[in-house]
Amino acid sequence: MISVVIPIYNEEQIIALLHDAVSTAMRETGETWEVVYINDGSRDSSLELLRQLQRTEPEVVVVDLSRNWGHMGALHAGLQTARGDAIVLMDGDLQDPPDVVPKMITAWREGAQVVTAVRKSRKESRKALALLFPLFYRIMGAISDYPIPLNAGIFGLLDRQVLDSLSSLREGNRYLPGLRAWVGYRTAIVYYDRQDRIGGEGKLSFVSRIKYAMDAITSFSYKPLRLSFVLAGIGFLATAVLAAIALGSHSNSMAYGLFAAVAFMGSLPLFCVGILGEYLGRVYDEVRQRPLSIIQQVYRSDANAQELNFSAELPERKVQRQEVYPAA
Ligand code: UDP
Ligand code: MG
Repeated sequence: MISVVIPIYNEEQIIALLHDAVSTAMRETGETWEVVYINDGSRDSSLELLRQLQRTEPEVVVVDLSRNWGHMGALHAGLQTARGDAIVLMDGDLQDPPDVVPKMITAWREGAQVVTAVRKSRKESRKALALLFPLFYRIMGAISDYPIPLNAGIFGLLDRQVLDSLSSLREGNRYLPGLRAWVGYRTAIVYYDRQDRIGGEGKLSFVSRIKYAMDAITSFSYKPLRLSFVLAGIGFLATAVLAAIALGSHSNSMAYGLFAAVAFMGSLPLFCVGILGEYLGRVYDEVRQRPLSIIQQVYRSDANAQELNFSAELPERKVQRQEVYPAA
């Protein structure tokens, strides 16, 4: 069986279209399949729409999270719920075209255990992002201590064995495209053209994107920490030269020069403490071992599933919660 895992946050406008496209692609593969939609604390009617879909589509599994946990938390909950022998991850806004999925499954049948979908092109309506994505991948490519395919997001396929390896990692700040490369296994790459989202707004805020980029960088490189040494060296040298010149002259402009040097030397440690903080904060995250997300309820339409509930009303929310820790 193939599981398709899709996080959903306020996507009421596109759920019907999305499911159509996904089921068309999956039927084409001839495999048995399920699609796990993770409702990541949507405030619109996404959950109701997904539950409605489930009445006619037995392949649909709905995971309802206790609140909005963000893209990674939602994906993680989906990965823990999926039961397939291979698991396909994709976004719910059709930026990751479902018609690429049969290609991934073909690669998997031919022996690949990881299939990474790499963007040949990216349609991005938001100008700032169109500029920042290449910058991020360039930095990542230059400083990562482990080679990670660039221009690849979460879109791809994982064999069950690979998922088990990923689930056994205890890391909380997960950069999935990086970890997916890091665990190894036979890997295939499929190329695709990334579309613009077909409806609604992008859900990831600028701040959360920066956090994600910093997760990626800090979890795959120590080089920013070493940057402190380099900067400190340059700073000391510059100051020593300026001080020497200042001692040898009486001109007024040297006062400004010294002032600049002092300001520069003052801001250097702050910058370095900032970098340290990025790592230290993540160490603190890991020590606390908080779950990546909390599942409130799983709805399956299988006859043998306990969660079966087809009443017209949404069932009352169970108090019992299932926590999803990085380790399964
Ligand atoms: N998403 C989510 N939780 C969030 C934000 C986003 O589950 O807090 C989902 C969203 O519904 C979509 C996917 O994650 O299916 C990617 O989000 P989005 O398209 O906004 O990201 P972008 O493509 O802009 O990077
Ligand atoms: Mg998107």
